Amino acid sequence: MAVGEELPLILLAEDNPNNVFTITSYLEAKGYRLMVAGDGQEALEYARSHHPQLILMDIQMPGMDGLTAIATLRNDPMFQELPIIALTALAMDGDREKCLEAGMNDYLTKPVNAQALEQMLEQWLLQEDLPRANQQDTPERQPEPPVIFNVQDLLDRCGQDQA
Ligand code: MN
Repeated sequence: MAVGEELPLILLAEDNPNNVFTITSYLEAKGYRLMVAGDGQEALEYARSHHPQLILMDIQMPGMDGLTAIATLRNDPMFQELPIIALTALAMDGDREKCLEAGMNDYLTKPVNAQALEQMLEQWLLQEDLPRANQQDTPERQPEPPVIFNVQDLLDRCGQDQA
C-alpha cells in the first residue's frame, strides 16, 4: 500500500463481543480502518453511509441476520460488487449454500484464524484495486457475478477447518 493512500475501511458486522474484540484487535494491528455494526440493520446503515471497501458479516445476529443483510445489499446496485465475507459457525452443506445464494463472495468459519483472515482480506482488497472506474470505457470487460466463483476452494478450505 502506497504511503499516503487511504487505508481500506472494513465494516465488521458481529454481535459477539469476544469475536469483535479478536477481529478488531487483529485488523487494527494490521492498519485497517474499521467500523463495527452489532446487527444486520446497523450493517446496512453503515454500508450506505460510509461505503466500506469490504464487509465481514456474521451470519447469526439478533434482529436482521447476516444472510438477510447480504441479500439486501446485493439488491442495491451500489453494493453488487462489494466484497462481502461471511463469518459463520455453520458447517452444514445447506447453510453454506444459503450463504452463497445470499450473495457472499467468500466466508470464514469461526473462530476466525488470523492468517486466514489476512489472506482473505488481501485477496479481496486486491480485486478491489482493479480499474473498475474504467469499466464503462471497456465494454469487453463484462461485470462478473458477485458470487459462485471459488466455490471448490471454499469447500476445500472448509474441509480443512473441520479437520
Ligand atoms: Mn453472531
